[in-house]
Amino acid sequence: YAKTCGRAQAQFYNQEISRSAKARVVLEQQLLNALENHGLSVFYQPILSVPHQTIASCEALVRWYHPTLGFLTPGDFLPLAYEVGLIAQLDLWVLERVCQDIQAARANKLSMPPVAVNLAADTIMDALLIDKVQHLLTRYSIKGHELEFEMIEDVIKGDSLALRHTLEQLVSMGINLSIDDFGTGYSSLLRLKSLPFTKLKIDRSFIQSLPDNQDDCAITLSVLGLAKGLGLAVVAEGVENSQQQDWLHQHDCHYVQGYKYHRPLAPYDFFMLLSAPAAKS
Ligand code: C2E
Ligand code: MG
Ligand code: MG
Ligand code: MG
Repeated sequence: YAKTCGRAQAQFYNQEISRSAKARVVLEQQLLNALENHGLSVFYQPILSVPHQTIASCEALVRWYHPTLGFLTPGDFLPLAYEVGLIAQLDLWVLERVCQDIQAARANKLSMPPVAVNLAADTIMDALLIDKVQHLLTRYSIKGHELEFEMIEDVIKGDSLALRHTLEQLVSMGINLSIDDFGTGYSSLLRLKSLPFTKLKIDRSFIQSLPDNQDDCAITLSVLGLAKGLGLAVVAEGVENSQQQDWLHQHDCHYVQGYKYHRPLAPYDFFMLLSAPAAKS
């Protein structure tokens, strides 16, 4: 009896696995299709300067209106994109859409702040990245300083010459570089200092429990101190309430991003925000 039961169970699992494997293949195909047919979207979340809360920049965040699964956020499909090697193509797609939106904003006489685009390690390591970025800047008449690139610490973990060269070329094009989710990955302070970054983004996990959690206060303070010492700007991610805001302001954190101010907005809503008088600095 146990044997039959076991076999039945194994069969059940296999079915589940093959079903999910099949579902994955379908999803992968749909993602590729979305990439090729402009089926993804980019939302924009404002980054504000403290204390006046004017829009200093914004972050481009990818979204997918899936035909059957509905509105998907990166957590739903980026792991798959990484796994199947589509992440660099996705990042470049987002970058192109951002360039188009910057151009559209300009055509509508809106002053678009610099847009930060998230780049994965694969994207940074793409030997043709510089050419592709240059091509987009030219094609859409965009200056480097209209863009920023964000990357997580792990991207700079391996300090290769190629990486350094790529980053330096991006900077020479006028593109500012930020370290994203700072504090959650592995990067040596020495490397941080020697690579051409101008901004650190403190991960939401450290901001979340400010100012009650002593450890998070200590960590955030030390990041702020470090950044100051190295001459880097700091953005606090995931600010949701006034207590966090006040604490950050009090400790000289100059930029904030979070639901307290704005959720990531569809391009149209972001443009409306930019056209509102209060947005003007
Ligand atoms: P991230 O770069 O750290 O982006 C910030 C994330 O925090 C976004 O999640 C944003 O919606 C969310 N967030 C902002 N403020 C708050 C807040 O006050 N509370 C909470 N709970 N969340 C907040 P999202 O859009 O789901 O993106 C998740 C991650 O996916 C991003 O984290 C980034 O690592 C990655 N990602 C997004 N778009 C791209 C892309 O185009 N390319 C690549 N390679 N990665 C991307
Ligand atoms: Mg980011
Ligand atoms: Mg981040
Ligand atoms: Mg984060």
